[in-house]
Amino acid sequence: MENVIIIGTGCAGWTAAIYTARANLRPLVISGEQPGGQLTTTTEVENFPGFPEGVMGPDLMMRMQQQAEKFGTRVEYDRVESLAKQEDGSLLLKTSGGAEYRAWTVIIATGASPRHLGLPNEKELVGHGLTSCATCDGAFYPDVPVAVIGGGDSACEEASFLTRFASKVYLVHRREELRASKIMADRALANAKIEPVWNSEVKEYLTDENGDMRAILVHNRVTGADSEIEVKCVFVAIGHDPNTAFLAGSGVELDPDGYILQDGHSTRSNIAGVFSAGDVADHVYRQAITAAGNGCQAALDAERYIAALES
Ligand code: NAP
Repeated sequence: MENVIIIGTGCAGWTAAIYTARANLRPLVISGEQPGGQLTTTTEVENFPGFPEGVMGPDLMMRMQQQAEKFGTRVEYDRVESLAKQEDGSLLLKTSGGAEYRAWTVIIATGASPRHLGLPNEKELVGHGLTSCATCDGAFYPDVPVAVIGGGDSACEEASFLTRFASKVYLVHRREELRASKIMADRALANAKIEPVWNSEVKEYLTDENGDMRAILVHNRVTGADSEIEVKCVFVAIGHDPNTAFLAGSGVELDPDGYILQDGHSTRSNIAGVFSAGDVADHVYRQAITAAGNGCQAALDAERYIAALES
């Protein structure tokens, strides 16, 4: 029986691991599908306190893991498929690798995953000119035009990053105003390689004879006109969905968008012993530092819960 199992290895998961490890709870971390979480798909993080010169997302995650392991955190590279409360008050986790784990507390820090537009040939195009990760795939498209879909910080960050490689970056947004923070929006719009395509939604991904991305068919919501824009790759940056599908049938209460509901000022869920942290429960702030802070809160909540069980 484990004291605490942490599901997820983003900022929230590793911070919860650092705190529970230093409380001598010997946490077990189960990595999830994308070890390191969303920051492993980003480039430079300029707003994480303590790094005035900035830090690369993957480096930050590696350092967090090292810090957690230094204090005795154990890691399993597997994916949790179900969670169920047991009669003795413990929690049973089953993984896609066929393993079963029992714990007195579980901290869910599974984050959120990038959204797609829901167009018909989306699945086939992944790896053939459709991606959600500029850091991973940007370098594969040197000196060719590409498009970024979205108008938030992610879209602006990806568009700016892609100008290092692409000949031109179309920033396709469904409105006439970016949602991104002013500094990120200004930076993107000041870049001569970035051309905003306002009031526009992508109707179709058009492919060449090899099945690779050739162009996007864009519908202008103001003029009603459709037009083709030739691009070799499309980077979709339209937000995220929380990774909570594995909680179906667990009884853990979610909001209408699938985010885990936290109890008032604590990280408790409606099920005793189950806590959550980071983007899986937060659709408002969604920052590396707020996820880390929430991971710390979940660790302290789990620690108190275990202490109460023992007394
Ligand atoms: P976001 O802020 O939710 O923005 C999503 C964008 O995609 C919006 O512009 C939205 O359009 C558009 N969109 C959503 N669904 C769409 C659809 N079906 N078709 C077309 N467009 C669609 O998401 P995000 O940019 O990923 O940012 C998430 C959070 O992370 C934010 O809090 C952000 O500040 C933070 N973040 C920070 C950094 C940084 O500081 N380095 C970098 C990345 C992200 P509308 O505007 O019309 O709704």
